[in-house]
Amino acid sequence: MIIVMAANVPQASVDRVVGEIEKMGCKAHLSRGTFRTVIGAVGEEGSIDQHHLSTLDGVEKVMPIMTPYKLASREFHEEDSVVQIGGGSVRRQLVGGKHALSIAGPCTVENHDMLWRIARHVKEGGATVLRGGAFKPRTSPYSFQGLGETALKWLRECGDELGMPICTEIMDTRQVEAVNKYADLFQIGARNMQNFDLLREVGKTQKPVLLKRGLAATVKDWLLSAEYVLSQGNRGVILCERGIKTFEDSVRYTLDITSIPVVRKLSHIPIIIDPSHAAGKRDYVCALATAGIAAGAHGTLIEVHYNPSEAQCDGPQALLPEMFREVMGQLRAIAKIMDKQFPA
Ligand code: PEP
Ligand code: MN
Repeated sequence: MIIVMAANVPQASVDRVVGEIEKMGCKAHLSRGTFRTVIGAVGEEGSIDQHHLSTLDGVEKVMPIMTPYKLASREFHEEDSVVQIGGGSVRRQLVGGKHALSIAGPCTVENHDMLWRIARHVKEGGATVLRGGAFKPRTSPYSFQGLGETALKWLRECGDELGMPICTEIMDTRQVEAVNKYADLFQIGARNMQNFDLLREVGKTQKPVLLKRGLAATVKDWLLSAEYVLSQGNRGVILCERGIKTFEDSVRYTLDITSIPVVRKLSHIPIIIDPSHAAGKRDYVCALATAGIAAGAHGTLIEVHYNPSEAQCDGPQALLPEMFREVMGQLRAIAKIMDKQFPA
């Protein structure tokens, strides 16, 4: 249910509505827009007394939210959400609305030197958030699984030194404490999009969450997963389209460009694209990246390696540093046409 408050009502009226929602055993989530406050009342179906809420002071209207996801919907929050990454001692980056974001780095942290080398390249190329896997979700248990906490420490050190927030994947609830300690942005990978316990645990932190789309998930499934995070009080969700399984086998996955306008219509949450994992081949990454920004995405996540043939994982899709620099120039130009801006 959403409770739309009249314009410029006193805080006391908002507090009263929140109190009444809590008395019904539900949670109240506030969405403050430019002109009015909207309160989302979320709880078990049938537990909300719509009539009672509509009689309270300052309430303009009370309406059910028609979509199965509530806090993720545009009905709850009309304007685009802007999510902050970093801040405090780490340089702050914004994504959503007019703010575009470029996340880049290696698939996985292989060693100290390679991380530093790639980090310098992607920073030079225009990335503002550094990514690198410490815990890797590999199809084979015999493939490189990541360096774990050692990689997290190196990522933190490198991010601090270069002034870049860092993003890394978390696969399990047991990793929340360590990843929360070192990273600025949790990445939930495609294979864990419906790991509901993990979604709830990261939702309990106040750190932003990059939620990739599952390999075979519909947009509705994906927004319901975002709802798990939001329902715990964490407003920092960023969606990432990374391609889905289709019958097409000339690429690794099919980047679903359509999901960008669909998500933007249904939801206020920023959406970025990952052309690297979708394509699986370096030759196609730039075309997909530019298409994604042209379709309205709020940024990109791109894998880069200076020596892809020796990479521990995902070498074939890694852009060479000069390719990354070049595509960032194109992305900047397209973003401008789309009324968005990558940070200088
Ligand atoms: C990754 O970002 O390295 C990764 C494994 O991505 P995905 O979950 O999209 O496959
Ligand atoms: Mn990868």
